[in-house]
Amino acid sequence: MIMLPAGGAGGIGLRERVLGAYIGFAVGDALGAPVEFLTEQEIRMLHGTLCDMVGGGWLRLRPGQVTDDTQMCLALGDAIEQAGGWNLSVAAEHFLGWYRSKPVDIGNTCRRGIARYLRDGSLESPFSEGDAGNGAVMRNLPLAVLTLGDDEAFARFTLEQCHFTHNHPLSDAAALALGHMTRTLLGGHSMSRARAIADGLVSEQRLFNFEPYPKMCTGYVVDTVQTVFHVFFNSDSFEDCLLQVVNRGGDADTNGALAGMLAGARDGVGAIPRRWLMKLERPVRDAIERQVDVLLELAGKSE
Ligand SMILES: [Mg+2]
Repeated sequence: MIMLPAGGAGGIGLRERVLGAYIGFAVGDALGAPVEFLTEQEIRMLHGTLCDMVGGGWLRLRPGQVTDDTQMCLALGDAIEQAGGWNLSVAAEHFLGWYRSKPVDIGNTCRRGIARYLRDGSLESPFSEGDAGNGAVMRNLPLAVLTLGDDEAFARFTLEQCHFTHNHPLSDAAALALGHMTRTLLGGHSMSRARAIADGLVSEQRLFNFEPYPKMCTGYVVDTVQTVFHVFFNSDSFEDCLLQVVNRGGDADTNGALAGMLAGARDGVGAIPRRWLMKLERPVRDAIERQVDVLLELAGKSE
């Protein structure tokens, strides 16, 4: 059981940490998306070091525009709000609504899972070797907040949520470990507690070992976890963590989002550079701020 002090380490309150995690997630998405699928060398040639939300990229984004990562989190959070808690059927309808809104991007496994639901109404994808992408892991933050204080509910809801599109033990292990780490940081706990969670995952599944860092940053969930852990444990601020991760390219938006989630949970929203916060699309920022309050209320953690 994670204990949740009202104002964690350094006097940062829970709401500020949750906002840090959620806005940090969206900031990482918007910062990384313009360099998604590029290599480190290509980014260096185009941008030097990418420091700002420049827009463009293969999705031709506006500066500050988020992609499927943040949109799927918001869809999940909306479903939780509508249901007044966790309800997989309601979540499925919200993912379908998002799918029908012609999103700027959608991963293959997410597309296939939502199309299956549309076809037969089933809420769980059958196991598939190809489902070890990071698409279920990336959208789980609302459940990490909703279940603060109830680790058993977190694990159960997370697996249901993930299996809607991704049914693979590596995706499951990553979602549980990243969520557990986020919840620990939201509770104001130390980096050594976070590190113990990473080490626990690696000892259960050696495949996730990130030391030495294998320098792979694709959408394969093992690459994602290794990249996110590597930058998170080898950076000294929110900004440094995000700059390191997006400048590696690859699945830069999802890796950026997940790194921003961890660093934001640790440091609170006040640590997010103002130039990024101001550039983030305003309706997204507003929706996140509103959703954070709803989730904290439902979690019984309103301050
Ligand atoms: Mg994306």
